[in-house]
Amino acid sequence: MNNIKKEITEALKDQQAIFGDMLYQEISLELQPKKSKSLAVQLDSDKVEEPKSEKLFNEDFEEADSLESLNSMICECQMCSLGKTRTKFVFGVGNPNADAMLIGEAPGADEDQKGEPFVGRAGKLLNDILKAINFAREEVYIANILKCRPPGNRDPQPGEMETCMPYLMKQINLIKPKVILCLGRIAANGLLGKKLTLAALRENVYDINGVKVVATYHPAALLRNPNWKRGCWEDVKKFRKIYDELTA
Ligand code: SF4
Repeated sequence: MNNIKKEITEALKDQQAIFGDMLYQEISLELQPKKSKSLAVQLDSDKVEEPKSEKLFNEDFEEADSLESLNSMICECQMCSLGKTRTKFVFGVGNPNADAMLIGEAPGADEDQKGEPFVGRAGKLLNDILKAINFAREEVYIANILKCRPPGNRDPQPGEMETCMPYLMKQINLIKPKVILCLGRIAANGLLGKKLTLAALRENVYDINGVKVVATYHPAALLRNPNWKRGCWEDVKKFRKIYDELTA
């Protein structure tokens, strides 16, 4: 017993020589603790909040069973930089059960302000084109590949189109159109996954998952160059003919 007392006294004297009068207890520290259950409980009891990661989109959008629910799931999307510069998210407009769908590339300034595709001068011309082939605007569904406006009306970038495309594909899956009219080279190449000129695209009728696809000029291009209206007229007559055949 005396030996033990002597050893403790010696040990304490050694400690005192190194650390002074303060008595230290050796503990082991884990510098990067794993989130064991006990640590989570401790964090909770201390009311320490972990940093929240920003939610960029609703990953459940593929489960949407209507256009309305899809819109509400994706309208806050920030998956590309256009989410930060848009004024309004432009989902699409028209008959949710349309057999005919029109697809453009992206919202412009008027669309960005109104939250609706193809408004303004180009939109009015599109309405006139539809009327000429006996469609009311409300009868078809109109959407763009991008749901947010590229600043300064620049062309959509490939990465933006790739990121936004699943939303359009989901819209097409919900609407189930029989025929699609692509308005402009960028929309047609984007939807079909091609890199062709508009002249080449206009020569063919394409098929994506059983849906016929026809390409023509973007109405804004027709406003800049009215000489292209004749070619557009031929394209939209073809579009109407396919529609009539498939819905007869
Ligand atoms: S353009 Fe499409 S992917 Fe980019 S933020 Fe808008 S909705 Fe999201």
